[in-house]
Amino acid sequence: MKVLFAGAECTPFIKTGGLADVMGALPKAIGNVDVILPAYRGILEKLNTEDVRVYQIREMGKSCEVHLYHIGATSYYFVKQDHYFDRDTIYGQHDDAERFAFFNLVVKKFALRRKYDIVHCHDWHTGMVPYLLKGQVKTIYTIHNLAFQGLFPKETANYFGVEDESFYIWDQFNFMKIGIENADMVTTVSETYAKEIMRKEYGCGLERILRSRRKTLTGIVNGVDYGEFNPKFDPALKFNYDTETFDLKKVNKKFLQNELGLKPVDKMVVSIISRVTEQKGFDLIISVLDKMLEHDIQFVLLGSGDPKLERKFDKYVVNHNVSINIGYDEDLARKIYAGSDLFLMPSRFEPCGLSQLISYKYGTLPLVRKTGGLADTVKDVKDGGLGFVFTKYTRKDFLQKFEEAVALYNTNQWNKNVIDAMKLDFSFHAKAAEYRDLYERVMK
Ligand code: ADP
Repeated sequence: MKVLFAGAECTPFIKTGGLADVMGALPKAIGNVDVILPAYRGILEKLNTEDVRVYQIREMGKSCEVHLYHIGATSYYFVKQDHYFDRDTIYGQHDDAERFAFFNLVVKKFALRRKYDIVHCHDWHTGMVPYLLKGQVKTIYTIHNLAFQGLFPKETANYFGVEDESFYIWDQFNFMKIGIENADMVTTVSETYAKEIMRKEYGCGLERILRSRRKTLTGIVNGVDYGEFNPKFDPALKFNYDTETFDLKKVNKKFLQNELGLKPVDKMVVSIISRVTEQKGFDLIISVLDKMLEHDIQFVLLGSGDPKLERKFDKYVVNHNVSINIGYDEDLARKIYAGSDLFLMPSRFEPCGLSQLISYKYGTLPLVRKTGGLADTVKDVKDGGLGFVFTKYTRKDFLQKFEEAVALYNTNQWNKNVIDAMKLDFSFHAKAAEYRDLYERVMK
């Protein structure tokens, strides 16, 4: 069975969030899966291997080259079209609709030419592919975040040379709606999110459409690539550690504190690494941060996103127990996972979330709101789990959970839980079988 993954980001080439982690890890875990993505600025130059083949494809009056690279056991196809993809940022350009329409059309042609059995599409950036391949190649459409639907003016349809009323909702062209309605199967990245998005509260306006696909909608919880995120080998860490040498986590904490200008003392380090958006619960964090800081803790933030929310942290820059790092920094992220004790994810909604899984591996216990994939992967210590879980999106419930975590930190139980957390297995290998099974079913 020949399967092609199509998506807009993929580690280790380009990443803005969890989508890239999944696009990078899952094909390797499933095995025998190829990947196609745009060749953004600088990607090909950084690959220290030669392309094996180049395919020419013409669409929308423009030519592109699809470069094949074999990296590890996976074949990656990069769509090189500099007018569209040689840009400063990968999203948020004025012509995103045109750029990704082009990408969708190229994926379609490429999949037909290379005779794939299944094209597995990810998020809005590939939403038209299931429509374009209908009846010719089987497609699976995976929703990584329903909040980003790829909404553009109705004229976007012109790029595809077809007119279909079903493309539109709210008088706009909607890539994600098209993907959901036309794929042979729809999946999302956790079981709870699969249920939640059929409800008004989480459906972002597409709940009715999702309900109509109920029989073909599955939730499969994401995993982590432990070859990529593992304190035992992570090159970003001064001292690598595992459950046997877990005391070295303390040394990593000292290094982190020094690097961030925090006093290198043995107190609880509470961190968050995230897009700074309302989705991730930042309004809640800001509203309780003063109260949190009344405890003997240090607080570390690494993230970027909504400038209004980012600015709310300005006043903490002078606080010697706080380190605010606005930006995206892969290396620092790893040092923070290693040097922290508690990781915050009080999300309003969370399709899956990977940070809580990475945290476990680095021995940093997660404090999460019970929603989406967080509900599926984190159990509260009171229920026999290793994390801290609150349900209602309120200051009171968040703070209470935080205080429970602080209380536990000061007991011997904490280190036991840390070691157990590091032993949890959320690798994609366990999930690969579920995807293979899905592929079998879609081919029947
Ligand atoms: P998202 O909704 O953003 O995809 P996930 O929890 O699924 O959230 O995945 C986020 C991924 O992006 C994790 O690997 C996390 O470590 C990483 N990440 C988020 N923000 C930053 C940042 N500012 N710098 C480095 N890595 C980041």
